[in-house]
Amino acid sequence: MSKKNFETEAIRIQSERTQFKEHATPLYLTSGFVFDDAEEMRASFAEEKERDLYSRYSNPNTSEFIEKICKMEGAEDGFAFASGMAAIYSTFAALLSSGDHIVSARSVFGATHGLFTKYFPKWNIETSYFSVNDLESIEDLIQPNTKFIYAETPTNPGVEVLDMEKLSALAKKHNVLLIIDNCFATPYLQQPIKFGADLVIHSATKLIDGQGRVLGGITVGSKELIRDIYLFSRLTGPALSPFNAWVLSKSLETLAVRCDRQCENALKLATFLETHPKVKWVKYPFLKSHPQYQIAIKQMKLGGTIVAFELNGGMESGRKFFDSIKMCSLSANLGDTRTIVTHPASTTHAKLEKEDKEAVGILDGTVRCSVGLEHIEDIVKDIEQALNAL
Ligand SMILES: *Cc1c(COP(=O)(O)O)cnc(C)c1O
Repeated sequence: MSKKNFETEAIRIQSERTQFKEHATPLYLTSGFVFDDAEEMRASFAEEKERDLYSRYSNPNTSEFIEKICKMEGAEDGFAFASGMAAIYSTFAALLSSGDHIVSARSVFGATHGLFTKYFPKWNIETSYFSVNDLESIEDLIQPNTKFIYAETPTNPGVEVLDMEKLSALAKKHNVLLIIDNCFATPYLQQPIKFGADLVIHSATKLIDGQGRVLGGITVGSKELIRDIYLFSRLTGPALSPFNAWVLSKSLETLAVRCDRQCENALKLATFLETHPKVKWVKYPFLKSHPQYQIAIKQMKLGGTIVAFELNGGMESGRKFFDSIKMCSLSANLGDTRTIVTHPASTTHAKLEKEDKEAVGILDGTVRCSVGLEHIEDIVKDIEQALNAL
C-alpha cells in the first residue's frame, strides 16, 4: 500500500499479532526472550538474525513506539529511552569524545543546560552558547573540534522559534551535526529532518504521552548515527521500559486530535491575553506579533500548546496571579490534558541571574501556560479572574 497519512500511521503501525489475534497491541512485560537452540542463540547474538534478545536492547513494545516516531519524523531509525534527559544524555555521550566542542542555543531546557555546565567540563567537552535572536553569531563560535549545533524550537520556556533551515545550512557548511529537541512541537506539528536536522530528540513525557502519566524519550535520525547511539545505550542501560512504550505507542494514536484541539485552545487563549490590560506582552508562535511568526508558519503546522506572557508588575504580580488561579494546575510539567501554569522566575529558573533569565526569554512576571483540553471558555475564565485579581 502507498504511503499513509500521519494519523493513519500513528494508529495502524502495530507489532505482529500473536495467536490470540488481539486488536490492541499486547504488553510484552518481559526482560528476556527465549531461543529454540544453540544455533539460533548464536546467530541472534552475532546480529545475523534480527530478533529480540533482551529488553535492554529491544522489545516489541519499544520497537513499535520507535517505528511510529520514525515514520512521523521521516527518520530511518531510532532508539527509545527512559526519559527525555536519558535521550539527550545518551545521544551526546555516544557521539562525543573528550576534547570535543558543541555550540548550543543558550535558551534550552534547564536540565540540558545543567548537563552542559556541570558535567561536560568534567569530561573535557566544551560548550559555546548563541542567542536565539542571533543565529549569525554561530559561525564565530564554531571551532575545528566542534561536533554539534544543538537547539530547541520552540524553546522552553520563552517560546522562541529558531529557523531550522538556517541552522542546517550553517551545520552543513561547517560539517557538524544539527540536533533538534522537538519536544514542544511534537512530530505532528514539525519534522526537523525535513529542514535539514541530523538527529531529532523528544521528551515523550510531554505531549507524546499527553496525559501526564509516564516518562519517556527518543532519538531518531540516520541508521548510521542511531547505530552508535544504540551500541552505547545497549551497554549503559537507559532503555525505555516496555510498559511505558506500550502507553506511549497508544498515546500516539490520539496525538493529532489532541494537538489540533490544544493548539486551537492555545491560540484562543493567546489572542484573549493580547487584549488584557494586565498583560504586558504575549508570546505564541502563531500570533502575528511573535518576532519569528514568519519562520513559525513555515516550519510548524500549528502554533503549539505553550503560551508565554508577561504580567505587569513583575515578581509580585506573578505570585499573586498564581495564588488566584482556581482550576488550572500549578505544576512544572507541560503537555498534559490539564492546563498548567508555571512561574519560571520563582520556581524552575529561580537560581538564574537576571541576564541569564533574559537570555532564556523570561522576566520576573513571565507566566508559561501549557494549554490543555478543558473547554476553552473555562480556561480563559480561570486565567481572566486571576488577572483581574492583580
Ligand atoms: C521536559 C523536557 C526535557 C526532558 O525530558 P524528561 O522526559 O523530563 O527527562 C527535554 N527537553 C525539553 C524541551 C523538555 O521540555
